[in-house]
Amino acid sequence: MNEEAKGMAKEIVAEKPALLRGEPWMDILWDLFCPGCQIPMVARIIAESFEELGIGDKAIMVGAVGCTGILIASFNIDRVSPAHGRGPDVATALKRIHPETTVFTVQGDGDCIAIGAGPFLGALTRGEKITIIMVNNTNFGTTGGQLGPTTLLGQVTTTTPRGREPSSEGYPVHTAELAATFKGVAYSARGSLHTPAEFRRTKKYVKTAFQRQLDGVGLSFVEIITACPVNWHLTPVKALEWIGEEVIREFPLGEFKNVTSIE
Ligand code: SF4
Repeated sequence: MNEEAKGMAKEIVAEKPALLRGEPWMDILWDLFCPGCQIPMVARIIAESFEELGIGDKAIMVGAVGCTGILIASFNIDRVSPAHGRGPDVATALKRIHPETTVFTVQGDGDCIAIGAGPFLGALTRGEKITIIMVNNTNFGTTGGQLGPTTLLGQVTTTTPRGREPSSEGYPVHTAELAATFKGVAYSARGSLHTPAEFRRTKKYVKTAFQRQLDGVGLSFVEIITACPVNWHLTPVKALEWIGEEVIREFPLGEFKNVTSIE
């Protein structure tokens, strides 16, 4: 290694956020994710947003069942693991008991809008002052890549070997647009992590969602599209390209609702 390369190797370009745990055993946790999985980036976005908003550790994370549920062990904040899909119910109780605390769920699309559709719709209906982060990777990842509520039309999964057919499996659910239709929702957006620019934009959405909770406006929701290379049968790089070419055509990115008060 020449001198210039040695200097570059020592340069730190992105520190680990303080709210993410760093014990040596955490390497085992991160190793649970497949190569190219983007769920760990969601943890970074949340931790960085908390630091920048000055929330510190005055927060409670409500986890989930599924690949996204692995994140429950990664934060230096109070955490609760609910039953499958019950995150919004648990978050509701915690927020009502501790209104001064920022309470949020991190759920996969299966946990949030399939198994957990009832608790999710209930929280939207009541306009609970919580934040829901939903990871959309267009399939049930943990259990081997089955059809999920967000599976694209024509997408091959283990339960749709010929591709998703509207006549038998229906159409993908547009959760961010759905959330925006509820009166008690203050903020709803969909971001993606397939390019550095979209990562930055998605972080802005997550920060805004937490800010709306801090302002006590209403429920805030962010859907984040992430790559699941192993179940998409793509390399990590090809998975990012597929998001840019196909996934965001079905799921447009942007803010669908952003209000600072609810009449
Ligand atoms: S199955 Fe998909 S979502 Fe789950 S860890 Fe692997 S890449 Fe990530």
